[in-house]
Amino acid sequence: ENYEYTNLMQKLNAAQQEAVRATEGYVRVIAGAGSGKTRALSHRFAFLVNELGILPGNILCVTFTNKSANEMRQRIHSLTGDNDTGYINTFHGFCVSVLQEDSYAAGYPKSFLVLDNSDIDAMLQIIYEERGLTLRDMTFSMARDMIEIQKLFKRPEYYRDMIALPLEALKEKYDAAARAEDIIFFGYLYQEKKCFGLDYNDLIKFTLHIFKEREDIRLKWQQRLEYIMIDEFQDIDALQYELMEALCAWHRNLFVVGDPDQTIYTWRGADGRFLMDFAAKFPGTQTVMMMENYRSTPEILAVANSLIEKNKYRIRKELLPRRTGGAPVVCHFADTQEGEAKWICEEIRRLQAEGVDYADITLLYRAHYVTRAIEQVFLEEKIPYTIYSGVQFFDRMEIKDALSYLRMIAYKDDLSFRRIVNAPKRNMGKRRLAFLEEYATQHGVTLYQALTETLDDSIFKGTKAGQFVSLIEHYAAGYEDRPVSEILSAILNESGYEKMLRTEGSQERLDNVAELKQSVYEYETTCGEEVSLPHYLAHVALFTNADGAEAKGKVKLMTVHAAKGLEFSTVFLCGMNEGIFPSRKVRTKEAMEEERRLAFVAMTRARNRLYLSRGAGRNFDGSPQYPSRFILDIDPHLFHYTKEPRAELIKEAREYIGYSQKYMPEKESDVTFSIGQRVRHAVFGDGTVTDVDRDKGAHVVQFDNIKTPRSISFRAKLEKI
Ligand code: ATP
Ligand code: MG
Repeated sequence: ENYEYTNLMQKLNAAQQEAVRATEGYVRVIAGAGSGKTRALSHRFAFLVNELGILPGNILCVTFTNKSANEMRQRIHSLTGDNDTGYINTFHGFCVSVLQEDSYAAGYPKSFLVLDNSDIDAMLQIIYEERGLTLRDMTFSMARDMIEIQKLFKRPEYYRDMIALPLEALKEKYDAAARAEDIIFFGYLYQEKKCFGLDYNDLIKFTLHIFKEREDIRLKWQQRLEYIMIDEFQDIDALQYELMEALCAWHRNLFVVGDPDQTIYTWRGADGRFLMDFAAKFPGTQTVMMMENYRSTPEILAVANSLIEKNKYRIRKELLPRRTGGAPVVCHFADTQEGEAKWICEEIRRLQAEGVDYADITLLYRAHYVTRAIEQVFLEEKIPYTIYSGVQFFDRMEIKDALSYLRMIAYKDDLSFRRIVNAPKRNMGKRRLAFLEEYATQHGVTLYQALTETLDDSIFKGTKAGQFVSLIEHYAAGYEDRPVSEILSAILNESGYEKMLRTEGSQERLDNVAELKQSVYEYETTCGEEVSLPHYLAHVALFTNADGAEAKGKVKLMTVHAAKGLEFSTVFLCGMNEGIFPSRKVRTKEAMEEERRLAFVAMTRARNRLYLSRGAGRNFDGSPQYPSRFILDIDPHLFHYTKEPRAELIKEAREYIGYSQKYMPEKESDVTFSIGQRVRHAVFGDGTVTDVDRDKGAHVVQFDNIKTPRSISFRAKLEKI
């Protein structure tokens, strides 16, 4: 494709052109939703490459999700016509690239494993079995959260153990642990090191560690990355910020874009102040503002503006529509959740009759459970849909199995071995696996190694263990020179895995596997960096729900968080009830403002049509559920109500909301005490806070006169002493 400078610039307004041309130094774009920030960013990439002759491999472009990284890669590919797209990735994905080159500096091999949730669960399974823990002690998802909190906040230096201690020393720590929390945490570190596995937190921590300890490596990356660009900068967290600072310190060409009204990840440590304080931190920063919105109709923007205005802590900025008149924003109050779902169905049918494609319709919601009623009706009404969360594409059994075959070839790790040694059936059941576990522990080898060493043992008579080993050995011997897509097709065929799916008659699984093959192929053709098997495996673990194959001809369902940065022609924002959206977990005014920003993000995803809906219902305690304050926030003249809501209901809802708002503390530090704080309880007396459990909403307090610690709800009065 022939590229022309005027062509590129013609697609941009004056502010965007300014952002594109300002290539040197520190540049910050602050602008509202849909104002063309991401567009400016991708065109700037093309400008650097096409106009200035910068090599894509010397540009780092950080996106917030893998989905947006993929989209960006494709855009850059079409703008530059170049196959080499450089480093377009999430922070985590970029860290994988660094570690694939330099993990040796932390004593890890190139073939480290990137762990995803199901890998972590497989490790937890082992730990729970070994130490007699049950899900009552802690569910897996709680355990994963606990591990993350330990790594981020409570033991931020944990990675030093992973790097410095030999495996036996980690095992000793695990053996010595007594509390469930410690057993799980140290057991997990041990399991991780055992297979050289790294989870998302480790990726960032290890990279930072290497940059700190090894100036030569840091310098190499600093010099390589001549230009750095970061999208969605309002949601950067402290560790990512540290990484960014380290990387840009040499060339000092840093370009960030963000919208303070779209900060929605502070609960995970994001900090919008990094965007606001950017100019003070980097003197000489050039700031570009963009005021015009290209995405949405004026009707949709008026609604979104009317909502976000209600936030107290914000810099006023209004989105000005570029587009002219569209359809009114529709608001529907149903009597039940089923009623809400049915109405959405009818509306979708109506749109379809008007020629709207299913794929142009997206349902957004605050939390997964909202989809239950909707899915039921969709199934009955035969409306095709895909959920971009819930069971994730890359979490599906057949996808994990297929990837495990690839991992077996490259890493021969225990996690993959357990998954596939008996899929398809090779007569390698529990008893034989236990035999291998035993042997592996005794000899300090992997399960696969154990199998190769004991293949002649009588226990494997009548099994297909030998075939399995030959298969793996055959592929392991020559994978370096073959494209990943080819290896994948070949091994799924030869191993009999696909045949197994065929005999099971699971067409859906076969389709998913075909989809995976296609996605590998696409990845190979647009990735930029050389795609070897280890490269692919390290990056694929970062793919999550939102990155699954694009669903054609289906309505999309996803959470608002997953929709960040994306846009859709028609959006249904459903489940708009108090206690759902805003979530009942919101306890402070500060958190309520973040929740409102989240609703703002949801509404500003819509290009042409926006629908808001709710179904009345009851809370667990029997009290009525009220319509969301985020609907009541909006000037009612901006809506088209399908049916005027009862005045009484609105009045009651306002009273309820006013009351809850009045007694809401300003910020988290007003509700919670920090660990170590001395407190007084009306009945239990004085004590010390030993933990803060935000999920349960309680302080754990060791009272002076009670032996064991107690969890005290945030609602109960504890006095500072
Ligand atoms: P968000 O804050 O939601 O991430 P954004 O600021 O990144 O939004 P983009 O996604 O870049 O906005 O752009 C929004 C829409 O407007 C896209 O469809 C884009 O193609 C279109 N757009 C952006 N700039 C222009 C322009 N100068 N002319 C025409 N269309 C534009
Ligand atoms: Mg964007």
